[in-house]
Amino acid sequence: MSTLLTLKDIECQYQGVSAVSGLSLHVKQGDILCLLGPSGCGKTTVLKAIAGFQPLTRGEILLNEQHISRPGYTLAPEKRRLGMVFQDYALFPHMNVADNVSFGQRRLARAEKQKLADELLELVGLEGYGERFPHELSGGQQQRVALARALAAKPELILLDEPFSNLDVELRERLNLEVRSILKEKGISAILVTHDQHEAFMMGDQIAVMHNGHIQQRDTAFNLYHEPANRFVADFVGQGLFLRGTVVAPDTIETEAGLFKGNRAYEWERGTEVDVLIRPDDVVPDENGSLMAKVEQKAFKGAETMYTLRLPTGPRVLSMFPSHQDHLIGDRVCVSIEADHLVAFAVENEPPLG
Ligand code: ADP
Ligand code: MG
Repeated sequence: MSTLLTLKDIECQYQGVSAVSGLSLHVKQGDILCLLGPSGCGKTTVLKAIAGFQPLTRGEILLNEQHISRPGYTLAPEKRRLGMVFQDYALFPHMNVADNVSFGQRRLARAEKQKLADELLELVGLEGYGERFPHELSGGQQQRVALARALAAKPELILLDEPFSNLDVELRERLNLEVRSILKEKGISAILVTHDQHEAFMMGDQIAVMHNGHIQQRDTAFNLYHEPANRFVADFVGQGLFLRGTVVAPDTIETEAGLFKGNRAYEWERGTEVDVLIRPDDVVPDENGSLMAKVEQKAFKGAETMYTLRLPTGPRVLSMFPSHQDHLIGDRVCVSIEADHLVAFAVENEPPLG
């Protein structure tokens, strides 16, 4: 598949302060890319730059191999033929749903507009809602209308900025899956911005994790979870706690919870202090386990319960137990740690005080 959109080393500033810098990414035809990161990391700024609302101070953006932005040049948003859906529903309150959907299509005759609106409303599951006004719809329905309006221009690329974050979790999950299948069915590429990893996991073919205006890692959900490139990604994606350890052989780290042998050799010298990432699924209940841990917290999750366990030597780990194995806070449980793919980072020395 060919590349639809390319961002090369872009920088965006607000009042001389850079909010995004050295950022490169590309989206292939038909792909859904998620930009995942905490609030303030620059996700919306990147989308605004792609949409043409934010000028570049460095780098370039190409759509279908044509320059659409570079320093001193920003092709107007309406000439980019991109669809956009934002967090606040942004429908026109005085227009009915059908008119909202066909609003941008000025070149169409009245009957064609009606036909287009009907088709798109059917696509987003709102058949027969054309005569209603936005205030007569739920939040989820309003966002479907916003999506239908974005699709009306037949964009090749659609930009979604936390479109469902005002909705409750169940509805959000359903809409995510629906939108994904609509985009896939129509072969439309998308960039979805979110701070919610579950949303990113559900929607994205690929996920780019952002922090402080930079992309930290771009990968599949599976690899972000199992092979985080750095400590930020390890912390932000999935749950887990770090155990301090020492490298004793190229593939072996000794920790307070025992000796862990990884499936590859590290470049660290023997004796290097490292932090080993222990995910909840690495710590398993085991009657014959060598570790007797104390239950400090528990969170019931239905099929499973997440326990925070204190190891005898002090550090804590998270562990997922089948929920029928119920323990009380303060109970002692036997576990073993089965971390076969070891993820570890060198201990960062604290900067000196003062
Ligand atoms: P995100 O969407 O990831 O929450 P934003 O792209 O909105 O992040 O913001 C990135 C950074 O730029 C933040 O530090 C934010 O405060 C700053 N910022 C965003 N918009 C403006 C603006 N209009 N003026 C000044 N600073 C801004
Ligand atoms: Mg934002």
